[in-house]
Amino acid sequence: MVPREIRYNRSMRRDDKAQRIIETLDDLHPTVPIPLDHQDPFTLLVAVLLSAQTTDKKVNEVTPALFERAADPFAMARMEVEEIRQIIRQLGLAPQKARNLRALANLLVEQGGQVPQSFEGLEALPGVGHKTASVVMAQAFGEPAFPVDTHIHRLAARWGLSDGHSVARTEADLKRVFPKERWNRLHLQIIYFGREHCPARFHDLSRCPICSWAATKKRIAEEAKKLPVGKRRRQRG
Ligand code: SF4
Repeated sequence: MVPREIRYNRSMRRDDKAQRIIETLDDLHPTVPIPLDHQDPFTLLVAVLLSAQTTDKKVNEVTPALFERAADPFAMARMEVEEIRQIIRQLGLAPQKARNLRALANLLVEQGGQVPQSFEGLEALPGVGHKTASVVMAQAFGEPAFPVDTHIHRLAARWGLSDGHSVARTEADLKRVFPKERWNRLHLQIIYFGREHCPARFHDLSRCPICSWAATKKRIAEEAKKLPVGKRRRQRG
């Protein structure tokens, strides 16, 4: 099917785009269940840590066995690293994740067994970076956060909400343009949108519920380049 023509929308301000994106995502994804199965802040923290470079589905396949063995830091601190690695072996980076989980459990035990409810406390734990800490703050404690993974980073640039310079910049731009009380929900809505609507290969921007009116000039040109030469002039920036 030949893609329909799409023009760069010069007149739309970033704030207006953000508002329309909220409305579109509310329409398409009114409910956003937390994708990683967990029971409490500790099990969520473990699941998020395991989700690096793998899918949530795979994480949900291994966590029941892991949590049956150790659903709190005290039990996990008693496990051997090798035993943890065996249980999570089908995930990428299993040896490193197993070492981090054991070290993290030890540290939590030393601190009384509670998952810290602060960015500072979480980011001091082994294997926990800002994105993981943001997910835990948002989904375990309901604190406002905007975790930015590579997909959200890319979509924010494609929609013209940020310039794509760095993940830290994207997070700051998204926090500026969206109301604070919407951050936690939007983070999940964008993830669900990306999974459902954004194919890895070429597709028609004019049929996208967001890029059809929000795409940047760069994004339009980028996708047009993938078209056969004769069809390129139909997609203009
Ligand atoms: S055009 Fe494609 S990549 Fe861009 S937001 Fe829409 S579906 Fe996703």
